[in-house]
Amino acid sequence: EAVVNRIAAGEIIHRPANALKELIENSLDAGATLIKITLKEGGLKSLQIQDNGCGVRESDLPLLAERFATSKLRNFDDLSRMSTFGFRGEALASISYVSASMRVVSKTKDAACAYQASYACGALVPPKPGQSSAPRPCAGTDGTLITAEDLFFNVPQRLRALKSATEEYNRALDVAAKYALHYGGRGVGFVCRKASSNVADLSTPASPSTKTIDAIRALHGSAVSRELLHLTPLRNERLGFSVEGYISGANWSAKKTTFLCFINDRLVDCPGLKKSFEALYSAFLPRGGHPWLYIALKIAPEKVDVNVHPTKSEVHFLDEEDVIEEVCAHAQDVLSGSNS
Ligand code: ADP
Ligand code: MG
Repeated sequence: EAVVNRIAAGEIIHRPANALKELIENSLDAGATLIKITLKEGGLKSLQIQDNGCGVRESDLPLLAERFATSKLRNFDDLSRMSTFGFRGEALASISYVSASMRVVSKTKDAACAYQASYACGALVPPKPGQSSAPRPCAGTDGTLITAEDLFFNVPQRLRALKSATEEYNRALDVAAKYALHYGGRGVGFVCRKASSNVADLSTPASPSTKTIDAIRALHGSAVSRELLHLTPLRNERLGFSVEGYISGANWSAKKTTFLCFINDRLVDCPGLKKSFEALYSAFLPRGGHPWLYIALKIAPEKVDVNVHPTKSEVHFLDEEDVIEEVCAHAQDVLSGSNS
């Protein structure tokens, strides 16, 4: 059974960057406004995330890493309203299966102190042989600190499939930067650094007055932010969606497309939308440059297919083609408006 679970876990958590994505989403779900990430050897040796969110109660710690344990799905009706995607209650369980140890230190606002617990293979384990596995009181600030150590130590075929620690770090940093961009205008700051360095590779402020464009400037520099056009908010009642974003203008030229797509505040792949944007730009940029795109879509949750397999970040929704057409028509208006 352990082997089967481990293989299943390795399919959900297949590299540090996607473990990090799950952990970031948990921190955001917990209402965090500051998320600090520290990675050792690209996250393979150690992947740590600290947030200032609601924390986990002592009594909830024992089942935290149990498969299908989630606090986010209380009845069937919630399923259609879920604004999150993929399978539920599998991320922490999977991380505990593919890491040598997963440690959680958490404090809720009303608790007198923090509690810490260690996990392996979905269950509590003693921090050291011979000790009790029960959560123990400790010092800690409000929020949650999760540390996963030695990722894939027991999944050698996964380790072999991964490239260098540098490559894994860059992928993880890329995920952090995308969330930092989207949430920068929503009051959430991010810090990401290598454990070996005191200098952050990414740092955005946690401030309610920060605007998305400020976050873009902080992350990508003013040369990039100056070239971008505001894809002004558009609402479509008939199709049940709204969209906003930033898109590159006429002077932009890059060798490949940068496409950040958030649907209902989750980073997703939406290949249909990407393709349509590329077609739009290939007509708009006659010399064949590729665009930079950040698109934030809100779609009525009941229209989103929540049953996508957890290994897929591709999301599909009802009336997808019509929505894509409307979004691209709006982008075209913005582009031609800026051109005239
Ligand atoms: P899901 O997010 O689908 O519920 P996870 O395995 O990702 O499943 O997380 C399991 C549960 O652990 C969550 O439902 C939540 O209650 C709790 N949890 C995980 N991370 C955090 C966090 N950073 N802060 C507070 N609670 C958390
Ligand atoms: Mg989760």
